[in-house]
Amino acid sequence: MRRVVAVILDGLRRDFVRPDTTPHLARFKERCQWFAAHRSMAPSVTRVCSSSFATGCLPMRHEVEGNTLALVEDGRFAVHDVGQPGFFAHKRRVTGRSLAAPTLAERLHNHGGAVLFSNVSPGAAYAHDPDGHGFVYHRAGSFGPGGKPVAPERALGIGPDITGDRIMAERFVAETLTAHEPAFALIWLGHPDTTQHAVPLGSPEHLAALKSADEHVALVIDAVDRLRAAGDDVLLLVGSDHGHQTVHSVVDVEAETAKLGYADAITANDLIIVPNGTSVLVYASEAGRPLVPQLTERLAAQPWVGEVLAGSALARIGQTERRGLALFLSLTADHEVNAFGVPGRSYAAKPRGGKADRLGCGQHGGLGTYEQSPVLAIEGSGFTAGAAVDHPSSLIDIAPTVLCHLDLPSNGMDGRSLQNPPAMELFR
Ligand SMILES: [Zn+2]
Repeated sequence: MRRVVAVILDGLRRDFVRPDTTPHLARFKERCQWFAAHRSMAPSVTRVCSSSFATGCLPMRHEVEGNTLALVEDGRFAVHDVGQPGFFAHKRRVTGRSLAAPTLAERLHNHGGAVLFSNVSPGAAYAHDPDGHGFVYHRAGSFGPGGKPVAPERALGIGPDITGDRIMAERFVAETLTAHEPAFALIWLGHPDTTQHAVPLGSPEHLAALKSADEHVALVIDAVDRLRAAGDDVLLLVGSDHGHQTVHSVVDVEAETAKLGYADAITANDLIIVPNGTSVLVYASEAGRPLVPQLTERLAAQPWVGEVLAGSALARIGQTERRGLALFLSLTADHEVNAFGVPGRSYAAKPRGGKADRLGCGQHGGLGTYEQSPVLAIEGSGFTAGAAVDHPSSLIDIAPTVLCHLDLPSNGMDGRSLQNPPAMELFR
């Protein structure tokens, strides 16, 4: 039987895949095809990445442009945390659809099915299947086709800690990679991301979490080896959604924007400042839009602003102005090392609601080198064992690659399948 198994280690930086930090993954790197130029989305945050992974589409197409974003409701912007369990139901009520592009779970509904186990935020998990086509197991609620909750004893009762990841990986292997396997089985581990947000990159606590995460991947790799030995044609993808940078300074972007002369526009809800880790989305109402050109100039002059994309330039990162988004700010990143010798620092935007700052720990969201260096390693037919390729790839290419292995069309996707080109193309 042809099937695809995918493991995502949330937040794993490509440069942390080494024999000393992740020995199992380092060994896997030697036998798979390694994507040395793989990139994240912009913003490089989990709920955007999950939506792009699931749909093979850019944010402008699937409509999840941030971990936190603004929807127009009754003519005004309302800011929402996409991580909440009820986000997609709310978006469906407001906009008429959850994601604006079909997911792998939907496309596979009549073609072998999809099963996801996830230990990240509820919203990021449900982004894979917001309309209930397959199975999604998450601690906030586990659902089968039709959005029906699974039997209570089948629900995923784990914590967000690394022990939760371990329990989930063992269950994923025992249930999904044995009898009655789905065509597509995905496990999305919460670590190292959750750990990296709480401790410095390269610290003993971080290295311990990497070791554990590496063991969780090894459980899946070994199970896939057993499936292959039993005759299955398995495509195995191991990767991450984004990396992390070290936060060296936290900026209250709304307060700073107010100081630049926009306090009234912010109060009037004409400019909405929406932090997304090391990046910021700025929305503008009809009345706020004339302010945007000068605001762009003034923000670009701030030392904490690395890159500003406005208007039609948003298309360069797969974003659109159509739903009121006016600016994308990637906060300034550098290559300096932290206290543990790990390169890559960034400013981070103070989150809405005054949540704790994460000075000295990991964060992501922008276009910095290391947050834009996630992992992708693929083994199976169409890929060259032991090869490293440096042609561009990103999360929108995963879904077409999954469908290609299953001999299914990937029409309507922005990404393309990563399987080696057929011989005829090679000689064109
Ligand atoms: Zn993530």
